[in-house]
Amino acid sequence: MSCGIVDPDIKFSYKNRRAGKGEAYEPTQHEHVANTISHAIGIGPSFIIFYFYMLNEAHRELQHILMVIYGIFTTTLFISSTVYHLFELLYRSRNLHRKLRYYLHICDRASIYLFIAASYTPWLTLRHCGYPGLNLKWMIWVFAILGILYQYNFHEKYKTIEIILYILIAAGPSIAIFSMNDRSGLDMMIIGGMAYAIGVIFFKLDGILAFAHAIWHIFVLIGASFHTYAVYAFLLGPDKNNPVPDV
Ligand SMILES: [Zn+2]
Repeated sequence: MSCGIVDPDIKFSYKNRRAGKGEAYEPTQHEHVANTISHAIGIGPSFIIFYFYMLNEAHRELQHILMVIYGIFTTTLFISSTVYHLFELLYRSRNLHRKLRYYLHICDRASIYLFIAASYTPWLTLRHCGYPGLNLKWMIWVFAILGILYQYNFHEKYKTIEIILYILIAAGPSIAIFSMNDRSGLDMMIIGGMAYAIGVIFFKLDGILAFAHAIWHIFVLIGASFHTYAVYAFLLGPDKNNPVPDV
């Protein structure tokens, strides 16, 4: 093992010791497996729901385009996470393919920004929320690109700043709720948002709680399920509530 943080006494336990400052946590093989499976199980359902349900329920071209964006980035999130964790599972202990694993990790993180933007876009487009919503709709994509550039340049360097950025980008645009003309379905969005927020606690518990990262993944699955259901049930179908928005 190249990285000197694996405690030999607990090598065969379900977790390793907490990473020191500037170090990355070294998951156990069990944790690598759990990390991979916990997001792999999201790929099939996210694609099936997108392709067979959401696209079918899109009655307008605008809904169709928004569902393509939503479906692509939701499925991409689970694929990039699974691929990254699979490569960690296969190669990290032998310290192989370091560069590839580094870039896969950046892709994994970058896909979260795009996923956040894709989750907000249907709401900010199909619901009338005045200028805050119209402006936020473009700003979230600008923030997603800035987040990706940040990842590319400062990957794993300032972890606390990274978490704060994620929370700001994820929670900030929800202020558009206050100017929405129709708030049906938003309770589901809030429950989903709370699942992500609880998940972030586990995201920070590597080395304290065994399988903390896989638990974070499960909360992402729960959050994404609520958000996907909310989009499917409240934003699609014939447009009885939603006036044609300015796009
Ligand atoms: Zn992960």
